[in-house]
Order: sequence, then C-alpha cells, then structure tokens
Amino acid sequence: MFSPGLRLKNYDLHNHSTCSDGLLSPTQLIELAARTGVDAIALTDHDTTDGLAEAERAAHAAGIEFIPGVEISVSWGGTTLHIVGLGVDARAPELVAGLASIRDGRFGRARKIAQALETLGFPGTLEGALGLAGNNEAKLSRAHFARYLAATGRVRDTQAAFDKYLGQGKPAYIAHRWASLENAVSWIRAAGGTAVLAHPGRYDLKPMMRHEMLKEFRASGGEAIEVVTGSHRPEEYATWQRVALEHGFMASRGADYHGPGESACEPGRLAELHPSLTPVWSRWAH
Ligand code: AMP
Ligand code: MN
Ligand code: MN
Ligand code: MN
Repeated sequence: MFSPGLRLKNYDLHNHSTCSDGLLSPTQLIELAARTGVDAIALTDHDTTDGLAEAERAAHAAGIEFIPGVEISVSWGGTTLHIVGLGVDARAPELVAGLASIRDGRFGRARKIAQALETLGFPGTLEGALGLAGNNEAKLSRAHFARYLAATGRVRDTQAAFDKYLGQGKPAYIAHRWASLENAVSWIRAAGGTAVLAHPGRYDLKPMMRHEMLKEFRASGGEAIEVVTGSHRPEEYATWQRVALEHGFMASRGADYHGPGESACEPGRLAELHPSLTPVWSRWAH
C-alpha cells in the first residue's frame, strides 16, 4: 500500500545518453526519469563525461537530484568489465586524461569491426554506424553497429545483431585493450568518486576468476557492486546480494537504460535493494 511517509527515495545510478550509446539526449533522459518517479539519477555514459553538465541543468529544472557519473571500459583477464564511477568531478585531470585515452582506441576498433562485417557480407557499416553516432568517431560503439544492422534489415533487432555477430566470441567481435582495472578505479577515486562494479552477472567468468576479480577490484579501491540492475534478471539479484554481503561491498541500483525500445527497464522502475545491504548512496545521503 502506498504510504508517502515510508516511500524510499528512488535512486537510479546507471543510465546512458546520446553522449555514448544511449538514444535520448541528457535532457530527454532526465525528463523521462522525472516522469518515471526517479528522485536521484546518475548519468553514466561509456568512457565520457560529456553529458554531465547538460544533465545536471535538466535535473535542476526537473527538481530531481543529480549524481555525476561515468562507466569505464576495462580489460581484465581476457574479459571486458565495466566500472561505474559515481559522484565524480568531471574536471579531475586524471579522469579527463584516462577517459580520453580509452576513447582514442574506439575508432580503430570500429574499423576492424566494419571490416569483419564486410567479410560477412555487410558493406558500409562504418559509415552507417558513424552516422548513428552523430559522426563522433570517439564514441563509436558496438551498439551503433547493431542499430545500423537492424535499421537496414540485416538482423531482426539490435539484440539479434549482438547474438549473431557482435557479442563476445561472435564473428564480428574484435578483442580490444581498454583500461586496466587498477587505472579505472584510480581515475574515479582521483576524481572524488566511488567505484562500482557494473552488472557483475554479465561477465563470463568461472567462479575462481570471479573471486579473483572481486578481490582485485576491492584491492584497487573498488567499494560497491551493482545488485539490482536492468542488466541482471530479477532471479539473479539474490546471488549478487550475497556476494556484496560476503565481500563487504556496498550495493548499487540502476536501470542501465539506453533508450525506448532497447531497454526493458525504464529509469527507476526496479526492485528496491534488500534492507540487509548498505546502499552506495549512504555515502552521500544525509
Ligand atoms: P562497446 O563499448 O562498444 O563494446 O559496446 C558495449 C555496449 O553494447 C554495452 O554497453 C551495451 O550497451 C551493448 N551490448 C554489449 N553486449 C551486448 C549484448 N550481448 N546484448 C545487447 N547489448 C550488448
Ligand atoms: Mn551501453
Ligand atoms: Mn555496461
Ligand atoms: Mn551501462
């Protein structure tokens, strides 16, 4: 039953905009979040803080709290991990330089993806994906290739593009060297932020490696993991809740929203964190 006095503040700490691979502008994202009942939102674009200033203004106008964030691409043990930084100062020089170094690699990887797709019989995908990325080479993502393949009828939808061609181990997957785990966490901390392991259920790691990764994340200064996320199935929440409690990590919650038609979970429309967990926002909530 709805009880205004008891309603928990609705935090959503993982969302994307057109500044990386999202479909809504920062302003459109914030306006949507205000409509879906979010009280405090983080924008966490891949490897860039470009959208934060606009999102902050939009949040102010919409009367919701804003947490500046970023989602950093990391290579660890042959797997790509994503580390979310929350409460970062986007002007911090270590973070600025670190993110720029990652973005520098995106276009070279994109050319190799396009070559692989051409070999598979799909020409013109570099130009096509680039057009969908606002002609910004530094933000070119597999999501833009997936959208181009879907828009040109090569696949049924973007998910099919990942499942058939772009996902890890598929024929147009190009291994790439992103940041190290240690560096990503240190850039976030140098910017005054809290490092959060994004969607831990999405990584293809055997239990021993997973344990090793969590230990290394913690040793590097990582403090929280996402438990309730649009990138986990609800039946996975209990697993990551247990991991957070066992390893002494704070817990985070976020939709990992990319846009209408692509993300099943809208901002803020997620289960609450279990009360046994320490929310990552206990850090900055008074
Ligand atoms: P990139 O950083 O260019 O490798 O693109 C990664 C992005 O592609 C992720 O943030 C997701 O938005 C999307 N993505 C990656 N893997 C998948 C997948 N298996 N299914 C759907 N989307 C995916
Ligand atoms: Mn993404
Ligand atoms: Mn991610
Ligand atoms: Mn994300």
